[in-house]
Amino acid sequence: MSYIITIDGPTGSGKSTVSRLLAQRLNYRYLDTGAMYRAVGFAILRAGVDLHNKEEITKICNGLDIKFIHEGDSTKIYLGNEDVTKAIREPVIDLIASNVSALDTVRKVMTTLQRRIGSQGPLVVEGRDMGTVVFPDAQHKFYIDASLEVRVNRRFQERQKRGEFISREKVKEDLIKRDSQDMSRHLSPLRPATDAKIIDTTKLSLDQVVEKIMKDMKMNKE
Ligand code: C5P
Repeated sequence: MSYIITIDGPTGSGKSTVSRLLAQRLNYRYLDTGAMYRAVGFAILRAGVDLHNKEEITKICNGLDIKFIHEGDSTKIYLGNEDVTKAIREPVIDLIASNVSALDTVRKVMTTLQRRIGSQGPLVVEGRDMGTVVFPDAQHKFYIDASLEVRVNRRFQERQKRGEFISREKVKEDLIKRDSQDMSRHLSPLRPATDAKIIDTTKLSLDQVVEKIMKDMKMNKE
């Protein structure tokens, strides 16, 4: 197996920024598995398929051609030839991605794809079930979290930066709903792997979190 570092955690924990920075520091590839579930949600929404229609959903998942194109510091996500980078970040996709990610057909296809990407060389991979289910034998596992208020603030600022008009209360409500859905689902619920190092990012800058991870990896080098 390739050298894999998993970073799991809830919404707004800072895992995307931390994973990207860490991958840059190590010169590893970086995979955002949340973007994959978002792309699935986007495709299912566009096809107008009911979430109970297992057969159609399986067909859509198997036919999806998800590509990540890395350009400097940013990563573009394509479905076939279509750039869906922006579309999958629309707020409407947040909950749809969470809904479709609870379906076993969707998880099976995504897990296979993620393991294939993982077999192609060193990788920093972020998501909800990377250390628990997809890469249980990863060399290093981290679970990053932060207080609810800090996570809400991070998400609120992100959305304001994008020019959205939304109240902090609504951001908080959406975040709580999505996280509780992700944590309570039957398949691959969000939780730390028993052998993951848990990092609370509430009082740390994301650069400090990366430093902490690098230090921990050095200490636990086999
Ligand atoms: O990380 P992000 O917020 O983009 O993920 C969107 C949704 O995709 C999450 O709310 C979660 O339901 C789902 N997801 C998942 N497993 C992963 C990554 C994301 O179920 N490994």
